[in-house]
Amino acid sequence: MTEAAATPTQSKDQPIKASELDPKFKYELVKMHGSEKILKCFQCGTCTSDCPVARYSDTYRPRTLIHMAQLGLKDRVLNSDTLWLCAACFTCTDRCPQDVEVASVIRVFRNLAAEKGCFPQVFKDQAASLLESGYAYKIPELRIKKRESQGLPPLPKGNPENVRKTLKGVKFIEKIQKPAGEQQSGQ
Ligand code: SF4
Ligand code: SF4
Repeated sequence: MTEAAATPTQSKDQPIKASELDPKFKYELVKMHGSEKILKCFQCGTCTSDCPVARYSDTYRPRTLIHMAQLGLKDRVLNSDTLWLCAACFTCTDRCPQDVEVASVIRVFRNLAAEKGCFPQVFKDQAASLLESGYAYKIPELRIKKRESQGLPPLPKGNPENVRKTLKGVKFIEKIQKPAGEQQSGQ
């Protein structure tokens, strides 16, 4: 099953093909920690209406992602860029009348997407920096000099060795090195 990256908004405009439906997806999700109650969602929209990210985004809609997963649109959900906009504030989880752990469902989607190596380049860059220096992003030389000029102590040294050891077990390095084409293809 192969599907180009799609956002929930795009998916509304694009006809759904029977070939892209994975009817087993929702049953896989109910077995995963955090998304057990996904089938209880009755699409009331409370999660989206209370979501602080949805308020400022034209495309991020937790309700829609859940609906797509219920329908079996696995590739569209996992390839969706908007998946990565969730701020994990848990407002949706607190407000859902059906006790769906919406924020945890989004985490499950992200974990599945990451398993495929499908996550935004910006996070890959941060991960690469973490592996190289122990810091999520390179501290500019100018800032280091500014610290010195202000009499601040030097920054502690990063420990990339420990970071690598920690991430090796989950094959993290292989995932961030997957080429883009491979990440966007289906299972
Ligand atoms: S608030 Fe709960 S029941 Fe309502 S759409 Fe969101 S997940 Fe579904
Ligand atoms: S946890 Fe994510 S989806 Fe839920 S309200 Fe916060 S930002 Fe929105």
